[in-house]
Amino acid sequence: MRKFQAREGSVVQAYKFALDPTCAQLRSLVSHAGAARVAYNWALARVKANWDQRAAEASYGIAEEDLTPWVDWSLPGLRRAWNQAKRADARYGWWAANSKESYNTGLANLNAALSNWQASRTGTRKGPKAGFPRFKTKRRTTPAIRFTTGAIRVEPDRKHVTLPVLGTIKTHESTRKLQRRIADGRARVLSATVRFERGRWFASFQVEVERDQRPPARPLVAAGVDLGITHLAVIADTEGGVWYEPNPRHLDATLKDLGRANRRLSRRVGPAGFDPATGARVRRTPSRRWEKAKARLARVHARVANLRADGLHQLTTALTREFGVVVVEDLHVAGMVRNHRLARHISDASFAEFRRQITYKTGWNGGTLLLAERWFASSKTCSDCGAVKAKLALKVRVFDCDECPLVLDRDESAARNLAALAAEYLAQACSTGTAVGGSLAETPVSVNARGASRKTRRYHPDRVTGRGGRAGGVSPRTRKETSTAPSPTRKTARNGRSTGNP
Ligand SMILES: [Zn+2]
Repeated sequence: MRKFQAREGSVVQAYKFALDPTCAQLRSLVSHAGAARVAYNWALARVKANWDQRAAEASYGIAEEDLTPWVDWSLPGLRRAWNQAKRADARYGWWAANSKESYNTGLANLNAALSNWQASRTGTRKGPKAGFPRFKTKRRTTPAIRFTTGAIRVEPDRKHVTLPVLGTIKTHESTRKLQRRIADGRARVLSATVRFERGRWFASFQVEVERDQRPPARPLVAAGVDLGITHLAVIADTEGGVWYEPNPRHLDATLKDLGRANRRLSRRVGPAGFDPATGARVRRTPSRRWEKAKARLARVHARVANLRADGLHQLTTALTREFGVVVVEDLHVAGMVRNHRLARHISDASFAEFRRQITYKTGWNGGTLLLAERWFASSKTCSDCGAVKAKLALKVRVFDCDECPLVLDRDESAARNLAALAAEYLAQACSTGTAVGGSLAETPVSVNARGASRKTRRYHPDRVTGRGGRAGGVSPRTRKETSTAPSPTRKTARNGRSTGNP
C-alpha cells in the first residue's frame, strides 16, 4: 500500500482513546472483529485452493496456458469476490450485521500479508523473512477493525466518538486534544482503528494535523544521549551540562506481583489440559476463574507498559523541546537482547522505542537527530584527551583514562563523546552555512559513518568555544589532580535530573 503523504506543514499522527462501550456495543465490537477474521480466512482459503489446484493440474502435465487461471488477490479483486460470496453462500447470512469496513479490514490484511510474503521471497523486502499467511484463530488474533469511510466523528462534547454501524461510543478519557484541533480546522481524521488490547477497547484516530510550532529552547546546543541500564539515559550537552535520567525499572518493581498473578493462573483450569486415559495433550474450555486470573495478570502487564510509555514520552519530549541537535548511538537492540543476562533489563528500558520517539519528535520540533555510527567507541574513548582504551568490561562503571588524569562515570563519558561528535557537526554546519534545525529528521544523519575499523578522531573541547559560552569542556573537579573523591562526586547527581556541572 502506498504511504499517505501529509500536506506541507502537517504531520500524520495518531490520537488514541480508551473506550467505555455499552453491553450492546461490546457485542457489536466483538462481532465486527470476528467478521474481519472470517473475511481474512475466507480469502486465504480461496487463494490457497486456487494455487493448490494449479499445482495439481501442473503435476498431471497440463500446459501452462490451460491451467485454472490465477485468482485475483489484489484488494479490489478480493472485495469483488467477497461481495458475491457473502450473498451466494448461506454460511455468511449474517453479513449485513457488521460494517463493510470490518470485511475490508480482513481482506486488506490478507492482501498485505501476501504482498509481504511475495516481496520477501523475491528479495525486495528488507528485514526478517515474511512467512506465508496462516489462518487466524479466535485466540491468536488481536481483535481490530479499521474504518476508512463513513461516519467517523469525534463528538463536540469531547466524551464520545462515532463510528459506522457501532454508533456513538463513550470514551473513557476526554478527547479534548483532538477535538479542539478539529474544531479550529487544524486536524482532519483520515481513518479510525478500534482494537482490543491490554484488556480494553481503544479507538485510535489517524489524523493529519497542523502542529503548533515549538522550536527547541536552545537550537544551537547539541545533546549526546547515552542509553543504559544503571541510568535510563545520561545526557551531556555541548555547553557542559549533564543530566542523569534515572531508570525507573518498572518491570523489576512489579516482578513480585507478576509472579503472584502467574501462580494464581497456573492453579486454575486453563485451555491446556491432558487426557487422563491416554496422557495426550488436549485443548479444553478454560474455566471462568482462569479467565479472571488471566485478566488480572494482563492488568499487571498493562500497568507496567503504561508507566514505561509515559516516562519515555516525557523524556523524549523534554529532550527535543530543549536541544536543537540530539545525538544517539545507532544501537543494535535486537542483538543486545540476545544477551540473556541483560535482555529483560534492556527490554524494560525500551531503547528501540526511545529511538523511534526521538526520531519523530525531533522532526516535529524542528530539531536534528544525529546517529553515531554503530562502531563508534563512545564508552572506550576518553572524553578529554581522545585516547581509546583497548578494552573496557561492562562491569567497570568508571572511566579511568590511561593517558590523562580524567576519571569520570562511564556513561557520562560516553554521553560527552556523543556531544563532542555533535559539536563537530555543528561547527561544520556553521562554517559551510548549512542550516541547523528546521530540517526534518525523518532520515537521521549518520555521523562518522566511515566503516567499522575507523579510529575515533581525537576530540578537543576547545574547538567549539566562541559559540554559546562554555564549550563542552570537562569540569576541573572531575580531574584526578584536583578532585578529592572523583567518582562519588559524580554519583551525587544521579538521583534526579540535574543540568549543569555538579
Ligand atoms: Zn584521557
